[in-house]
Amino acid sequence: MAEPPSLPPPRERSVTIIAQDPSVRIDGEILLARINIPAERLSPGPVGYRVEVVDYDATSDTLYKPASPVRLDRWPAVKSRGLGDRLVADPEFHRQNVYALVMKTLSRFEFALGRRINWGFEGHQLKIAPHAFSEANAFYSDQLNALLFGYFPGRDGMVFTCLSHDVVVHETTHALIDGLRERYREPSSPDQAAFHEGFADVVALLSVFSLPAVVERMIDSTNGDKPLKTSMLTREALRKSVIFGLGEQIGSELRADDTDQDDGLDGDMQLVRGLPLRSSLRDLVPSPEHYESSEEFREAHRRGEILVAAMLTAFVEMWSRRLTALIADRQRVDRSRAIEEGADIADCLLTSAIRALDYAPPVDVTFGDFLSALLTADREIRPSDTRYELRASVTTAFKAFGIDPASRTADGFWKPAPLTLDYSRTHFDSMRRDSDEVFHFVWENRERLKLHPEAFTRVESVRPCMRIGADGFALHETVCEYVQILEPLASELDSLGIRKPPGMPGDKKLRLFGGGALIFDEYGRLKYHVYNRLRSVDRQQVRLDFLWESGALRGESTARLSLSRMHLRRATRTRKYAEEEW
Ligand SMILES: [Zn+2]
Repeated sequence: MAEPPSLPPPRERSVTIIAQDPSVRIDGEILLARINIPAERLSPGPVGYRVEVVDYDATSDTLYKPASPVRLDRWPAVKSRGLGDRLVADPEFHRQNVYALVMKTLSRFEFALGRRINWGFEGHQLKIAPHAFSEANAFYSDQLNALLFGYFPGRDGMVFTCLSHDVVVHETTHALIDGLRERYREPSSPDQAAFHEGFADVVALLSVFSLPAVVERMIDSTNGDKPLKTSMLTREALRKSVIFGLGEQIGSELRADDTDQDDGLDGDMQLVRGLPLRSSLRDLVPSPEHYESSEEFREAHRRGEILVAAMLTAFVEMWSRRLTALIADRQRVDRSRAIEEGADIADCLLTSAIRALDYAPPVDVTFGDFLSALLTADREIRPSDTRYELRASVTTAFKAFGIDPASRTADGFWKPAPLTLDYSRTHFDSMRRDSDEVFHFVWENRERLKLHPEAFTRVESVRPCMRIGADGFALHETVCEYVQILEPLASELDSLGIRKPPGMPGDKKLRLFGGGALIFDEYGRLKYHVYNRLRSVDRQQVRLDFLWESGALRGESTARLSLSRMHLRRATRTRKYAEEEW
């Protein structure tokens, strides 16, 4: 038979990464994993179409030369003895690890949202510096269009933040949220500031848990191929391993350096994820008190942890329910099934969390908005939820932490858009591409969409998408965002029905936001209008009072949230808001 015509090039390639962190070992071996990432033609760096690894170290002012030609799969044998340690010692692997994790995170978002995703800046390629400086810090810089990863001396040699799965995914998520919801970095309520951090942690942790190697280690790091004991799989045991177990491991590595409280390094050490996040999660028992009334949990990082704890609680709940079904009355359970279920659930929950972004209001987001968005977006693509009971589990877990859906409908889903909208003067075909046409639609329907008549209004994005459900079912949607901005003086608040915060000078210039996400179906009908109205006096009041009391409005009121500052704040464990934060 003749040779078949040349096959199309593969769409994916498999690469080795460090599964969680070099400190996580089994039998002395660093836990490695293979993941699939989009295949592409790379230049030395690696440099691809969305990511540009530049190994420049600002501390030593050195630019390291990448291997040429690029060979990503130089380390395929995950199980070979001592491989992990050889990889940690190989800077070329560091570059691959960070490239692979950023591309994986991007492709997760693109799969979940059913379209290409832009970074939060002009341009296509995010720069990544895997050894940016000698400091225990890592952050996304929207000024440099870059992710910067530091390194620092630890107990057993140098610690590289670019080798920590969750640090890399966390930073990448900041760059992605910034592209999807740029207004989330405007000064707003305590929830919005917390959302950026909390959501980045949710994506990071579920991304780690979606690796079977990590799941296996969570439930059993000793037993090799034997069946699992059912006692390891109870809800409480799972909760311990998910929230406590991993933290113990990483925590013990870092705590060794914790003894000298005065060297200034201690605080920075805390930044390297693992410890700060999970040690505080450990104390975060489900209770509505933290969210509703605790002063401590008004601070952005602490508040973000409530979101993380609620999502992890839902994860444990879903997993333990599946395991209970698997176990039935047997004493032992097939280990590969148990592991697969855990990894699949993490993956499913993560996809659902990402999809929620499209269904969340573009300004002044609250955790309750996120919950309603998650429930509604999930139902659109996965109408049947009997296998995992994801929506019920998430609702129950959020409720335990005092978070109710923002939508007051019985199940917390967003209400469908009004049926009485006028489509007669707009063309849906243009609306799928053209922000002026979407604005035309918004303008024609401004009263029914409850827009503020005097505010500056702008359609900020128009995004056609096609999402694929678990059953191969495709969902076509066009997602648009508009914002409304009003810039009154404090003395004019009265006329808007808002009380001027005590002590605020009358000539203080303020910015108030409103806006909505418009979700059109494949026939061009509006399915959902998810909005926070500019005229919502209560929300504006809460926001202004919070920003004024916390000092965030004392300086320049339009300054945006700086993520590097946020991280440094987490690093130094400064819990107070100060004016330079914003
Ligand atoms: Zn962050």
